[in-house]
Amino acid sequence: MVGMGNGLDVENRYKEERARMVELLMRQGSISEVVLTAMKQVKRHLFVPPHLSDQAYSDYPLPIGEGQTISAPHIVAMMCDYLDLKKRDKVLEIGTGSGYHAAVIAEIIASNGDGNGHVYSVERIKHLAEFSTGNLERAGYKNVTVISGDGTLGLPEHAPYDKISVACSAPDVPPPLLEQLKSYGKMVIPIGKYMQTLYLIEKRNGIERERKCEVGFVPLVGRYGFKD
Ligand code: SAH
Repeated sequence: MVGMGNGLDVENRYKEERARMVELLMRQGSISEVVLTAMKQVKRHLFVPPHLSDQAYSDYPLPIGEGQTISAPHIVAMMCDYLDLKKRDKVLEIGTGSGYHAAVIAEIIASNGDGNGHVYSVERIKHLAEFSTGNLERAGYKNVTVISGDGTLGLPEHAPYDKISVACSAPDVPPPLLEQLKSYGKMVIPIGKYMQTLYLIEKRNGIERERKCEVGFVPLVGRYGFKD
């Protein structure tokens, strides 16, 4: 719990809580050092509604308004690991929500040398596109661009992407996303309505689909998603 105190005090407490969260994730044993290091940096308390900030470093989803949620930290970690993110990757995210997941990706792909990696993140609900843009600005991420629109259409203007991360559950892989993925690129996407499975899709000579685990996401709503 973060109590009263001066600003620095509060920041230090959050830092401790964040370190504890990462420690618990590490003990699960399957998350890479690269992802754990990034999660130690990203201030999740800046991505949740203010009245929930004392729960920001618990490993569960939280409501962010409009019936949507910020994903649990272990889900974000797992999805980042499946994508095998590299410095300077160009990443498309569908479902920005709070912007937290985009920030973790941004942290991993940023390089101090020649050229940063970049995250393009599409959010269907305008209010959440604004909420996440504000959160990402406050947290200092410059290599994330939030676009308001239907992410089932992808974002052709910046395609092709090295990696695609979908944060809402689809009836099936939207064809535009497959088209906009680079050869040898990877995509993580939950598929299903009530029973959902997280898939890792790899574009090689053909399309390879690997089932990863059972998950629970909000629906992907749009042209190639579920109907409103
Ligand atoms: N990655 C987010 C989790 C957001 S929950 C985070 O870290 O907070 C999933 C989000 O997907 C919701 O905000 C929902 O509005 C959005 N969404 C659903 N269908 C969409 C679509 N077709 N295009 C873009 N965003 C969509």
